[in-house]
Amino acid sequence: MKCRFHIITYGCQMNRYDSSTLSEYLISRGHRWVDNLDDADLIVVNTCAVRQHAENRAIGRLKSIVARKKKNHNLKIGIMGCIAQQNGEKLFEIIPQLDFVVGTDQLPVIAQIAEGKFRCGTFVNANTDFMGIDSIPSITPGQVSTFITIMRGCDNFCSYCVVPYVRGRERSLPDEKILDEIARVVDNGIKEITLLGQNVNSYRYENVDFPALLEKVAQIPGVERIRFVTNHPKDFSDKILDVLEKYPRKIPPAFHLPLQSGSADILSAMNRKYSPDEYIALIENIYRRFPHSAISTDIIVGFPGESEQDFQATLNMMKAVNFSGVFAFRYSIRPGTAAEKLHHDVPEELKIQRLNQVIRLGIQLANNFSENLVGTIQDVLVERVSYKNPGKLRCTAPSGRTVLIDENSAEIGQIVPVKITAAKTWVLWGKIIS
Ligand code: SF4
Repeated sequence: MKCRFHIITYGCQMNRYDSSTLSEYLISRGHRWVDNLDDADLIVVNTCAVRQHAENRAIGRLKSIVARKKKNHNLKIGIMGCIAQQNGEKLFEIIPQLDFVVGTDQLPVIAQIAEGKFRCGTFVNANTDFMGIDSIPSITPGQVSTFITIMRGCDNFCSYCVVPYVRGRERSLPDEKILDEIARVVDNGIKEITLLGQNVNSYRYENVDFPALLEKVAQIPGVERIRFVTNHPKDFSDKILDVLEKYPRKIPPAFHLPLQSGSADILSAMNRKYSPDEYIALIENIYRRFPHSAISTDIIVGFPGESEQDFQATLNMMKAVNFSGVFAFRYSIRPGTAAEKLHHDVPEELKIQRLNQVIRLGIQLANNFSENLVGTIQDVLVERVSYKNPGKLRCTAPSGRTVLIDENSAEIGQIVPVKITAAKTWVLWGKIIS
């Protein structure tokens, strides 16, 4: 039996990657992707439980989608991802019309449900060997950039985070498998690879660690640019910077290094395993070796116990590091985490005020970073025709900033030198130089 399916994705890049490989896997088995939910007989919602807000959105969307079953009695609707893993069959109480609940490590089950080999139900048992579906992410014609998962799970147990509970413990894919997958996507036109993992720096397969893997990827013919997310500051070693130094054109010094808080006490309560001084020492080392680095971060405001002094320490750290981009979040209690048991003493109103302050400062820093690029020459990767800016090509600078150049001035997939002529917070404009 072949079905027409649609996947709705919430959350992180890992979820997007899982949705993309699941889609490719279903297509490879003869099922057909449909853009319109009305045409689907299988709808899967891939969910995120990292923040309460994300969870509410996904559940709300599911509740509205299940109404379609009144019109289409053959329609099967299921939930996968972190909310499915965390809540299991309780979800049938919240949304009785649901057909299946599939945990983060059970994705092949969805194909079997689609094919009628498995009955609908709950499939959430953590499978600690799960390394992803054996299918490369779908590459569309003209696509030049893709994610490649290198490891899954996390052993860090930050006190606010559900990932170690819903995604399981750290496990790394064999380096040979990763290199094969990259060679295959490069053959399909990909120029830029982003190595993906909950904590990419702790990649280790037998005697291959993350810097060794990075170097092997840089040596694959046809790979023109490499990025990697997400880094844990405690695992970010000098050896990574040594590899960047060897391949300066391929691996730009652009790092996402989640700080979360600038207060020693809050970092300790978060179980982040680094102090503000250690974080600053790491940043100084990066800037010393790569003065034009783009360093972005995540900040959580309103963690239990966060005093005004703690919060000011966060703002001061943001200024001291001069982040190129800041992703700010308001702390929300995640069931089952260590922080759930703490005294939640920061009122919601204060959290919102602090969040707004962090967002404002983050925008100011991002503006400064972009404006400082005006007049410089950046080697940009031409990604596609811009959807929002007619007549322009959308490119990516080494820092990760979007750069717009005139259409017809370059081919998609080329890396070309561009002089930056104007900047907004997240977007730069430029002209190709000869
Ligand atoms: S490092 Fe911490 S925040 Fe990141 S996934 Fe692991 S537990 Fe969660």
